Order: sequence, then structure tokens, then C-alpha cells
Amino acid sequence: MQNNPERTCVVCREKKEKQELFRIAKISEDEYKFDEKQKIQSRAIYICRTHECVKRVSKNKKYSLKMEELLSMAKLLKRQSKDYLNILRAMRNSEHLTFGINMVMEDIEHIHFLIISEDISEKNDRKLILKAKEYNIPYVHYGNKNQLGEIFNKDEVNVIAIKNKKVARGMIE
Ligand SMILES: [Zn+2]
Repeated sequence: MQNNPERTCVVCREKKEKQELFRIAKISEDEYKFDEKQKIQSRAIYICRTHECVKRVSKNKKYSLKMEELLSMAKLLKRQSKDYLNILRAMRNSEHLTFGINMVMEDIEHIHFLIISEDISEKNDRKLILKAKEYNIPYVHYGNKNQLGEIFNKDEVNVIAIKNKKVARGMIE
């Protein structure tokens, strides 16, 4: 994951790897199209693959995105977060999972994939991403703290880690 180019989200101005962002191709002066496969040859803007940034871009007059483009992004987010949640729920009692920032930090050398909640505090988010980069661990932002918490019968969980390489690979692909 080291050579992935980074782009800036036009909404929150955060720099992220392309796979963590939605690409929105600018196909004419005032027309934008959601480029799901990131393949349309044209200039483009990027936004985070989060409900928050999709919601905020929908209110941004500068980009006047069509409702159907916004909906397809929202649908994709919903589907993916649901899938992750289902997979995690099925694995909740396995030794391959650990959760919570302290446990994750402690166990960082054994972790192969991180699922970070979309509403984690900025400070913890930075801390985790820094570590993930240091150890070359792929990560995604999915669901919110309540949804991740539910998996373990907790109120809130801000991060879940996968400690099994094979399982991690299955979730990334
Ligand atoms: Zn953003």
C-alpha cells in the first residue's frame, strides 16, 4: 500500500489514498459523474467514501451533483458497510478479531486489516492511520461507533482489527 497516490477530498480537505475516496469525473463544465471504477478519462474531484462527505458534497452548490449520482454513492456505502458488519458479526467470537484503540495499538504487529468507524475522533483517527502506515496495514472507514459496538454488545467501538492474514485478505478484496 505504499505507492498508492493520494488525493484530497474536496469536502473535508483530507488527503487519502484513492481507494478510500470516491472519484467524481468532471465530464463537462457543469456536469459531474460518479466514476465508480475510477477509470473515466477526464479531470475529476475526489470525496471521502463516507456518508458524512457524501452528504456535505450534496449541499455544495459548486459541484451540483445529480441526485442519481449521489444516490449511487450512498447505496454503495450502505451495501459495503452492511457487508462488513455482517462478516464481523459472524466472526465476533473468533480469536482473529480485536477491538478498541488500546488493544489495537498493543497488538499492532499482529494486525492485517483495520476497520475504523466513520465517526471516530480526529485524534484517534490520526493516531491509527499513522500506525497503519508505519506497519503497512490496510484500513477502511466503515460504519459508526454504535454499529461497530453492537457486534460485541458494547455501546461504542471505534476500531476493529483483523489479526488473521487470510481473513484480512478476504475482506480487502
Ligand atoms: Zn472528506
